[in-house]
Amino acid sequence: MPTALITGITGQDGAYLAQLLLDKGYEVVGMMRRSASSDVVGERLRWLGVLDRVRLIEGNLIDLSSLLRILHDVKPDEVYNLAAQSFVATSWQQPLLTGSVTGLGAANVLEALRLVRPQARFYQASSSEMYGRVQAPRQSETTPFYPRSPYAVAKLYAHWMTINYRESFGLHASSGILFNHESPLRGIEFVTRKVTDAVARIKLGLARELPLGNLDAQRDWGHARDYVRAMWLMLQQDAPGDYVVATGRAVSIREMVRIAFACVGLEADDFVRLRQDLLRPAEVDFLEGDATKARTQLGWAPTVTLEDMLAEMVEADLARHRARMG
Ligand code: NDP
Ligand code: GDP
Repeated sequence: MPTALITGITGQDGAYLAQLLLDKGYEVVGMMRRSASSDVVGERLRWLGVLDRVRLIEGNLIDLSSLLRILHDVKPDEVYNLAAQSFVATSWQQPLLTGSVTGLGAANVLEALRLVRPQARFYQASSSEMYGRVQAPRQSETTPFYPRSPYAVAKLYAHWMTINYRESFGLHASSGILFNHESPLRGIEFVTRKVTDAVARIKLGLARELPLGNLDAQRDWGHARDYVRAMWLMLQQDAPGDYVVATGRAVSIREMVRIAFACVGLEADDFVRLRQDLLRPAEVDFLEGDATKARTQLGWAPTVTLEDMLAEMVEADLARHRARMG
């Protein structure tokens, strides 16, 4: 039975990846940072019904000694580095923390691997945010990067460190340049989940409006369950590499909001309020990925449309709020 170590197992992707690997017969070990609220941090794993099937170990991406200890104890065959300060807006409020965790944290994992477990295969969670002010109409593995936030700058450092450790030390280290992916388990601060949660509350009479920032930005949104499958596929290849994972369809925030409200028969314009303070110091206006390499080399393709995903998210948020209302 192969063993996988997932950093960031309590996040959206960590939960879906844990479920996928368990279904494939892996032993799954998750690194979790110490929290005063440890009873709630396993909520996503519980929601997917896998909390009891994973082994959780305490550690932190910014504590190299914890990573060395964990790799020594667990002896994983595959390591998925999903942990990060992952919210772009927060990265302007906490740029140094974001650099430490999202950037240097990945270097810590690579360094620990090199020292303790160089035979393990490694996945780095890179991001389409690295394209920032896009240098090509559709972004592929060869498109130059132009990061537009402290988050994206930190991810770019981690991305190049992954490539550097592959080239310097021969590690089987791959980097997935994933475009935005969502689900009912997406953090509530991200725009899709913020919207579906508000749609549910408005429908149930618990809220009257939805404050939003820039409605003109466009994103290429897929479903997290599809995207964690691409992560696993990358580590099953004989040679490591970098892959764009995307649907190839860009949709504006305005249109996404309209689709989400339509799920419950409401008009978005009646509820959306524009708020200046939700605009970002620098914006990524447009992202649309070209996943030809993932399709041809990994045999990967997305299976969920934006419309179906938003409907699933709205349903899940309605169920959550109904359960709370009793
Ligand atoms: P989440 O924000 O949901 O999860 C982040 C995880 O990292 C959580 O488990 C969190 O733990 C953990 N974490 C944060 N700081 C530390 C730390 N110092 N030490 C250990 N663990 C830590 O992210 P997603 O699941 O959405 O994304 C997974 C990865 O993919 C991230 O690296 C993200 O930046 C990247 N990515 C995501 C995309 C997306 O659209 N979702 C697109 C492209 C890349 P806790 O629960 O304690 O907060
Ligand atoms: P990101 O692509 O990783 O930054 O994912 P987000 O879901 O946080 O943001 C996607 C886009 O939605 C960005 O262009 C934001 O500026 C835009 N957006 C507009 N209003 C909001 C809002 O209220 N919250 C968030 N998170 N994003 C918003």
